[in-house]
Amino acid sequence: MQGDGDGWVTCAQGHRHWGRYGAAGLLIRAADAVVLQHRAPWSHHGDTWGLLGGARDSHETVGTAALREAAEEAGIGPDSVRLTGVHTADHGRWSYTTVLAEAVGPLRPASVNPESVEVRWQPVDAVDRLPLHPGFAATWPMLRAAYPPPHLVVDAANVVGSRPDGWWHRRLSAAQALHDQLAVFARAGLGPWSSPLREGVERLSSGIAPESWPVANRIVGLSWIYPRVTMVVEGQARHIAAGSTVEVVRAVGSGDDAIVGVVRAHPDSLVVTADQKLRRRVGGLGADVVGPQWLRARLDVSSTQPTERPRQ
Ligand SMILES: [Zn+2]
Repeated sequence: MQGDGDGWVTCAQGHRHWGRYGAAGLLIRAADAVVLQHRAPWSHHGDTWGLLGGARDSHETVGTAALREAAEEAGIGPDSVRLTGVHTADHGRWSYTTVLAEAVGPLRPASVNPESVEVRWQPVDAVDRLPLHPGFAATWPMLRAAYPPPHLVVDAANVVGSRPDGWWHRRLSAAQALHDQLAVFARAGLGPWSSPLREGVERLSSGIAPESWPVANRIVGLSWIYPRVTMVVEGQARHIAAGSTVEVVRAVGSGDDAIVGVVRAHPDSLVVTADQKLRRRVGGLGADVVGPQWLRARLDVSSTQPTERPRQ
């Protein structure tokens, strides 16, 4: 119930913490800045910089709690960010979960309650020079490295074509169905972390083993990830309806050229296609590739799960 998480607890390591059901915070990241809160002097570890966040209530998921706190403390609405990952520091009997997010448009945080002196974007490079809340200071090096989030680029024509299909109007409906499944997948995320993104990934450019896939290295330590998803459509499939969860690139000319364009902007993408020529092109730019069956298996799993995870 509302507010039932308020209270002090002593963790297994002997610290005193706020939050009977643990606490959660939101780390909003842009390419070179993060949103931080300058905590009020009277608060626990006052006058330090840390995350927007606070005690979880018993009924809340970590995502719900972190987003509620960001709204209460900085007026940040849930639609202005996209979740990218979850990291939990478990102290025993108490845990702090950092929900990682990225802004989906211009975002102007502001201090809207007395718990903060200030809430603002801080340059990533300046964070280490600030007086940090000790909990945030301990996790910041790992959180800093977990950006950008994994980026999946889907060759829609190839993935749709991987299942028997005949008519052009069915191509449109099949692409729409794929988009809708990808939207569920992007919101549901992947985890608990057991290298689901790495299985089946082929490194074409340099022969480096999948274990050293750079995107995977960046998400080590996260218990849950929400990849960015870009779907490239061509021909009739350009007319699919799309929301804001999946970025849809509607190729005017060649779909392959459009995919190469996306990869140029995001060289460490994971591209989903079975097209050998395209695989060589994106592999040459540094992307990893995986086949449509890999994606189908993930989509079939995520479509059977509730979209808001994890609870932890
Ligand atoms: Zn502790």
